[in-house]
Amino acid sequence: MQIAVGYRVWRAVRMFLIVVVLSAVFGAVYFVVSLLFPAYLLPALLVSFVSLLTIGVVAVGSPDEALTKWHEDQMLSTRELYATLYTQSPVPYLTLDKSGRITTCNQAAVRLLGRTVEELIGTTINDRFTHEDDVHLSVVLGKFEAGASILDSEIQFRTYTDEIRWVSLYYFVNQTFDQRLVSLIDITQHKIVDKAKSEFVALATHQLRTPVAAIRWNVELLERSLRGATSEKQATYLMKVARNVTRMLALINDFLSVSKLETGTFATSPEPIELSTYLPTIVEEFEGQIKEKQIQLTTEYLPAPFTYTADSRLFHIITSNLLSNAVKYVRPGDRIAFGYRLEGNELVFTVADSGIGIPAEQLPRLFSKFFRASNAMQHRAEGTGLGLYIVKESVEQLGGTIAVQSVENQGTTFVVRLPIA
Ligand code: ADP
Repeated sequence: MQIAVGYRVWRAVRMFLIVVVLSAVFGAVYFVVSLLFPAYLLPALLVSFVSLLTIGVVAVGSPDEALTKWHEDQMLSTRELYATLYTQSPVPYLTLDKSGRITTCNQAAVRLLGRTVEELIGTTINDRFTHEDDVHLSVVLGKFEAGASILDSEIQFRTYTDEIRWVSLYYFVNQTFDQRLVSLIDITQHKIVDKAKSEFVALATHQLRTPVAAIRWNVELLERSLRGATSEKQATYLMKVARNVTRMLALINDFLSVSKLETGTFATSPEPIELSTYLPTIVEEFEGQIKEKQIQLTTEYLPAPFTYTADSRLFHIITSNLLSNAVKYVRPGDRIAFGYRLEGNELVFTVADSGIGIPAEQLPRLFSKFFRASNAMQHRAEGTGLGLYIVKESVEQLGGTIAVQSVENQGTTFVVRLPIA
C-alpha cells in the first residue's frame, strides 16, 4: 500500500514538471508568433490549450490508475506467495538481525528448535551449535560474528528439548536490509544411516582383509616354489593373480581407512617423527617408479633435523598418498618437488609436480569420495578415487588444512598446513 501512495506522489510531481516545461516551450512559441504573425496568435493559443489538456488527462487519467492497481495486486500476491512459502516450508528458516537475534521464524524452525515463535523471537542461536571438532565450530561461529555467508556446513545443533540434531547450515547475509537468513536442514537421519553404512563397510572390509592377505602370501609362496618350473603362460597367470590381489588389498585398506576416519574410530597415538629422516623413507617407497619414469625429484627439508609430533599412520597416509599421486600423474621426464618448511607455528608440507594437472572445472570435486578427473582416467586406468579423500580426512584429524593449485597439462601443487603443538 505504501508503495502505491509513493507512486501517486511521484506521478503528481511528474505531471507538474511536464506542465512547467511545456508551458515554458509554448510561451516561447507564442512570443515568437505574436511578433512575426499577430493574426495567428489566437489559433496558436487554442492548439496549445488543447495539447496541455490532453497531456493532463493522459498523466492523471484512468488507464494509469488501472495500471497502478494491477501493480499493487501483483505485488500483494507475490508477497503473499513468499510469506506462505516461508511459513509453510518444510525447511526450518530463521531471520536474524545484525546482532544475531531472531526476528522471525517459520513453523519448521519451531518444530526443530522445540519452542514457540514468541519464545524464540529476540533470542540468539550461536550457543546452541556444537561439534566434536572445535576448529570447525570456531570457524562457523567466527563467520556468524563477522557476518560472512555460510553454505552447507554440517554441524550439530542442541535443541531446547536438549536433543542433539545434525543440521546442514546455510547462512545468507542480506546487506540491503542488514538481515541474516538462516536455514537449518535436519540431516540427523541421513547421518545415522551414513554411520551405519560406514560401520558395515568397516566390518566387511575387516573380515575380508585377512583371507585376501592370506591369498597374497600364498601366491607369493607359489611363485617362489614354482620358479623355473612354470611355462611362460602359467607365470603370466600367476603374475596377474598376484597383481590383482595386491590391488584388492589396497582397496580394502582404503575402505577400512575411510570408515575408521568417518566413524571416528581411527585410534591415534601421537609420537615424535624426525622429518628429515622419515620423509626419505617415503621417497624410497616410490624409488622404482621414479627411476623408471626418469622423474627429476628435488627434496627440501627445512629445517633439518626437525621433529614433528603426530600420529605416524596419519602422517604416512598424507605424505605417501600425495607423493604416490604425483608419481602417478606425471609424464616421463617431469619434475616433482617434495619437502617441508616452517611458517610461524605451522609445518608446511608441499608436493608439487609438473604433470598432467587437473581440469579447472573439476577442481571443486577433487576431495570427494571416488572422484577421478577425466584426464587422469585416460592417463591411468586404475585408481579408486579414495586417496585424496583419505588424505583430507587425515589432515583434518591432525587439525590442519590442505589446499591445491593446478593447471591442466602444466602441473599440480598440494600444500598441507599442520599445526605444531
Ligand atoms: P586415484 O589416484 O586412485 O584416482 P585419488 O583420490 O588419490 O585417487 O585422486 C583423485 C583424483 O585426483 C585422481 O584420479 C586425479 O584425477 C586427481 N589427482 C590427484 N593428484 C593429482 C596430481 N598430482 N596430478 C594430477 N591429478 C591428480
